[in-house]
Amino acid sequence: MKRHFDVLVIGAGSAGSVIASRLSEDLSCQVGLIEAGTMPVDPDIADPLKWTMLQGRDYDWAYRTVPQPFTANRVHEWPRGKIVGGSSCLHAMAYVRGHPDDFEPWEHAGGDRWSYQGLLPGFIRSEAFAAFDAPTRGSSGPLDVYLPDAEVSPVVRAYIAAGTAMGVPTLTDHNSGELVGTSPNSLNIRDGKRLSLADAYLSPQVMARPNLTLLTGHEVEHLVLDGHKITGVIVVCEGETRTVSADRIVLCAGAVSTPLILMRSGIGHPDTLKQAGIRCLADRTQVGRNLQDHLLALGNVYAAKKPVPPSRLQHSESLMYLHSDDPTRSTGSPDIALACVVAPSAAEGLDAPPYGSAFTILCGVTHPTSRGRITPSGPGRNDVPVIDPHYLETEHDRSVFRAALKMARAVGHHAALDEWRDAEVLPGTSVQSDDELDTFIARAASTHHHPAGTCRMGRDADAVVDPDLRLNGFDNVFVVDASVIPTIPSGPINAAVVAIAETWAALPIAR
Ligand SMILES: Cc1cc2nc3c(=O)[nH]c(=O)nc-3n(C[C@H](O)[C@H](O)[C@H](O)COP(=O)(O)OP(=O)(O)OC[C@H]3O[C@@H](n4cnc5c(N)ncnc54)[C@H](O)[C@@H]3O)c2cc1C
Repeated sequence: MKRHFDVLVIGAGSAGSVIASRLSEDLSCQVGLIEAGTMPVDPDIADPLKWTMLQGRDYDWAYRTVPQPFTANRVHEWPRGKIVGGSSCLHAMAYVRGHPDDFEPWEHAGGDRWSYQGLLPGFIRSEAFAAFDAPTRGSSGPLDVYLPDAEVSPVVRAYIAAGTAMGVPTLTDHNSGELVGTSPNSLNIRDGKRLSLADAYLSPQVMARPNLTLLTGHEVEHLVLDGHKITGVIVVCEGETRTVSADRIVLCAGAVSTPLILMRSGIGHPDTLKQAGIRCLADRTQVGRNLQDHLLALGNVYAAKKPVPPSRLQHSESLMYLHSDDPTRSTGSPDIALACVVAPSAAEGLDAPPYGSAFTILCGVTHPTSRGRITPSGPGRNDVPVIDPHYLETEHDRSVFRAALKMARAVGHHAALDEWRDAEVLPGTSVQSDDELDTFIARAASTHHHPAGTCRMGRDADAVVDPDLRLNGFDNVFVVDASVIPTIPSGPINAAVVAIAETWAALPIAR
């Protein structure tokens, strides 16, 4: 086994697959790609309908939050992929770039290249979008972006019609830059099967490159520091501890694991490290802070008048982005999101009708202001992390969530859905006052699976990485994954993570 690389990429998830693929295009660069999980073998991963069933299997890190005071003290399950392809092997496949305004804080934090216009070449390079031609869409990238038509459920068609009748803009899809509105979801699906980022970027041709080495089953314990240089990583493979060295290291272990690896290496807030029994080698107070995530209330459930045909896609077929104060307004980044699920979808502890007899409208806040943190509970990789997202801690998040639930109901009770709706089951029409809505939201709010921001990018001294995504204070280490996101965009974040990776890989410092 090779023990030294020019570049070592840690984590073969969404970002890591892109980075390893792009950097190994230069055949003179020896690229090592380290992944704690194995190659996917479970055939269910490829089946879009089975995505909710994959959680808890042996390729899920299966994290859990600490009890959340503003969600009825519930503990939230946080699935994350431990597999080649990472969380893109578990995700719901929705491909949403975000609203252009979402990237203004990114531009503020890191300059032009992180604005929507700056990221656009990265989006375009990644995409294989075939529904129609447009100069702002990629057609020959590795990642298929499939816009369904005939397969879209008739229930979803009626929900889109309800939005349209309420004045919500009707969109062809969500990725034109006009995010506010309603349309079927674009999906990372090829020939009816999930396309993970590893499927897209680590094809057999790419993996055959003589300069790319994938080490599966290798879990990074920590980085090896030599002053201001990091010389490699300590990994554990089949119970054995090994050192892998490299000239440059790119951390792509995701928003949970990347800050944990840094903190286990002694890079973090001195108090946090002390509490976990870790010697502080570099005082970086923001590592693991600034944690952001989207929540969705599961859900506003309706019993159906007639059998609901099973989804032919991935159940959650259409997002609707809008302004809670005016559903007809088309400009500006939306503050709420709705989603139509062609099935009953209820949080744990809430009773929902059987499959085939109900549909659901999910709702949530696109720009939460609550900020959480991830901290290690001890020095080792097996010490369970303390994940505290501070869900719904701010009045902003609670009041916008209430408005989102009201809007979900307005859509769900609209005449355009009369053909399908029998009666509202959850929260139930008796739940009306703001207090009652808050109580329901606290019981129903569940992660939309978008943790981000735990190694935020910025030009300020406290930022974890600089605008080149270089770990502040360390010349040869970079972070390129969901953790560098300064402020979460409106929608699901995988497309943005891919664009970050494509953008970084094209920078001179990456080569
Ligand atoms: C259930 C679910 C549904 C989702 N639905 C959507 C959706 O529909 N649309 C969307 O846009 N986004 C969705 N997401 C979010 C999206 O998948 C993630 O935001 C994205 O994959 C994050 O990419 P990443 O590269 O930062 O991390 P990951 O893709 O999580 O990659 C991190 C990789 O690093 C590896 N790793 C971690 N620690 C170590 C270590 N110590 N040593 C070695 N390797 C390590 C992991 O095993 C993993 O392979 C969903 C996520 C989940 C879990």
